[in-house]
Amino acid sequence: MASKSASRTTLRSPKSSKTKSTTVTAATAGSSTRSVEKRLAELRQRLGEIADIKAASAVLNWDQATYMPKGGGAARGRQNATLNRIAHEKSIDPALGRLLDQLDGITTVRTDDHDDTALVRVARRDFERAIKIPAALVERISAHGNSAYTAWTEARPANDLARMLPFLNTGVDLSRELASKFGNTAHIMDPLVDAAEPGMTVADVRALFNALRPHLVTFLASATARKPCDNACLLQHFPEPKQLAFGLKMAEHFGFDLTRGRLDRSPHPFCTSFATGDVRITTRVKADDLAEALYSTLHEAGHAVYEQGVAAELDRTPLAGGTSAGVHESQSRLWENIVGRGEKFLTYAYPLLQKQFPEQLKRIPMKTFYRAINRVEPSLIRTDADELTYNLHIMIRFDLECALLEGTLAVADLAEAWNARYAQDLGVSSPTHSDGCLQDVHWFGGIIGGAFQSYTIGNILSAQFYSAATAKHPSIPDELAEGKCSTLHGWLRDHVYRHGRKFTPLELVQRATGAKMSTEPYLAYLDAKYSACAGLPASALGSPST
Ligand code: ZN
Repeated sequence: MASKSASRTTLRSPKSSKTKSTTVTAATAGSSTRSVEKRLAELRQRLGEIADIKAASAVLNWDQATYMPKGGGAARGRQNATLNRIAHEKSIDPALGRLLDQLDGITTVRTDDHDDTALVRVARRDFERAIKIPAALVERISAHGNSAYTAWTEARPANDLARMLPFLNTGVDLSRELASKFGNTAHIMDPLVDAAEPGMTVADVRALFNALRPHLVTFLASATARKPCDNACLLQHFPEPKQLAFGLKMAEHFGFDLTRGRLDRSPHPFCTSFATGDVRITTRVKADDLAEALYSTLHEAGHAVYEQGVAAELDRTPLAGGTSAGVHESQSRLWENIVGRGEKFLTYAYPLLQKQFPEQLKRIPMKTFYRAINRVEPSLIRTDADELTYNLHIMIRFDLECALLEGTLAVADLAEAWNARYAQDLGVSSPTHSDGCLQDVHWFGGIIGGAFQSYTIGNILSAQFYSAATAKHPSIPDELAEGKCSTLHGWLRDHVYRHGRKFTPLELVQRATGAKMSTEPYLAYLDAKYSACAGLPASALGSPST
């Protein structure tokens, strides 16, 4: 973004080491290398402390979501606030900015794709982003998020939209104020998208969505003309401990390393990483719905193998962790949907599942189970949506939040606009706001905008990465049918996981797949899978005009 280079100019010292590097002599090169090494050590020390504090805060959050007694809530809130404040102060310390200035010339002693060069580049990006946002605004957003979230937990079950409208108005105002700190951008929401998907803009997201949407609409029209697949086999009684054990066993097959991770239960499944040696996932279990725990576990396991696969030497630096929300989501979706709901892996896994639940499944053929877990049906709730209609839920939210921030949609008209889009895009209408525009927590957690697109970017990229992996190793599908995931996992580790945040999403996709981010592999995947699954002609997704 243009605003980034403007900020770089103000931050860079007048005589940067980059300028000097053109005239270094052999004698000065040695001392210059030594001073770079010294500065890098100091940078690692500073960033390491920030990473330690953030990891400690993540442990507190994990504990709160899993085992903490209710009475600990108030104290935990204070403890976390203190850690977050210290981490933020260290992140915007002017001394860190000066150090990054001095390391501007690092490419004189390191190659462009060296870990240290990436460390300086990413640390600078994080620093510049952090210093643009005034602490007072961060506090206002945080306070608003806390009160909006608390109100939402009561207003959603009570279907009380009127109570939430003032919060939505404040959320829009704060989001616009936050976005304005990044200067003039082509779209007001660009800085919020950039925070989740570094280097991407609203226009980039719209281009992807426009390429996908007509095909989804065409497919959905074909699918809804038929009766949805029967999913009764999933809705029997399945003892919870046996469900958890099976999900974890499959996660281990994917490469989730239990010497560096664990699985626990929580109301909302999530994955959190404290270091590459300690990555934790949670799941939720329903005794009368087999798909809930199994696919929540496989989804979070996908996030976890990404975190565990980051090169250990990137630990304690800002390079640890996934490069963007969308790339992270691509891994949860790849392992959950492409592998876990795929015919090949089920050839291996389903007989084991039948053994785990003989009474419930021994008379259910694999084909029936496969169709049940891949059933397509337009629905009101995003989190319950099937793999295909899910993207339409996302596009509705993305368009509406863009319009709210642009000012072309008033908060007072949001519910009407929401219902109109659901009727038009999915052919369903909700009798309540609880299952309408109040259903997601995202708009009530602080700011509005910049989060939803990453789910569909994840779906798109899951197929692009899988397609690149199988192009390199055509044996992967047959290996999955034998329960062998190591070739696929190895390709992903080498091309995606180990790099952490070294590359932006667009750079990573280009390096890993040899192509720009594209919807083509995802459309081909949906076409092959859902045409067969729903008994539709293979051309059902082929052309939007048919
Ligand atoms: Zn996820």
